[in-house]
Amino acid sequence: MGNLWSIRMRASKFKTQSPKPKSQNSNDIHISGAEGLYKKSEVQKIARNYIERALNHPRGKADRIAITIEDIKRKPRVISSLPLATVSCSKPVEGKQIVRELLQSLGISGKAVDVSFELIKKGNMRGAAIITAEKGERLEPDLKRGVRASRLGIDKSVSKMLSLKLSRLGIGTDTVREALILASKVASCTPVMAEVCVSDDPDYTTGYVASRKFGYLRIPNIKHTGSKSGGRAFFIRERSNVKAVIDYLERMPVIIERVASCRGTISVNEIINRPDK
Ligand code: AMP
Repeated sequence: MGNLWSIRMRASKFKTQSPKPKSQNSNDIHISGAEGLYKKSEVQKIARNYIERALNHPRGKADRIAITIEDIKRKPRVISSLPLATVSCSKPVEGKQIVRELLQSLGISGKAVDVSFELIKKGNMRGAAIITAEKGERLEPDLKRGVRASRLGIDKSVSKMLSLKLSRLGIGTDTVREALILASKVASCTPVMAEVCVSDDPDYTTGYVASRKFGYLRIPNIKHTGSKSGGRAFFIRERSNVKAVIDYLERMPVIIERVASCRGTISVNEIINRPDK
């Protein structure tokens, strides 16, 4: 595979008129972000693409674009993408019920689910919360920021295959692809039992629940259009080694080299009551 490089982009806007924020992240509004693992020969092209993306984002004009290009020393772990399907859901109350049902059948307690709903409602985090599956305790060292899953990517030809499969379902967008890549890395971390995500983008109303057991389940209409709330939570087994989990999520390079099935709309019962599960 050769040496891989991690390329990360973050575009932001100053919150105040002052062009001198205390630090890169302390006083700015997130506009867009992207990242991936690439061969050295691809670095220039990808960096150009990311800059283009940062300069032309519907969320607004960026005042600062940070690009990090880093030689990855650790050998990447190779994984498959999670199988994807869309759960039929027509409105937010139903969506919430579906999320609860899915998470509880994955062994997450009602209390832990409530904690995740609360933080999604509040919004405004840069990363994800880490919540213990039984007691519902939050374990990220910085509760305001959360933990960022990073150093993840997909092989170039595998990426084309994934785009094709998603396009056939009418969901071949960067948003779906990137969320699936992220969720696949998160699910490959053994102590993680499940993830829930609701985008904070007011126009993007499809959330998801992801797990090794049920795969990546898109949930349309999880929130009303125009709502700015959103967030992410990773549920981990009680008494897991949190430091090791965070190191894996943030620093371990993980690359997707196989694509699993991508299916259209199914009912929540089909997922939960499948005989082999
Ligand atoms: P998005 O789907 O990009 O709108 O993100 C939804 C929420 O997920 C954000 O508000 C953050 O709290 C969280 N988030 C975004 N990117 C990451 C990441 N790389 N790792 C962990 N959490 C993230």
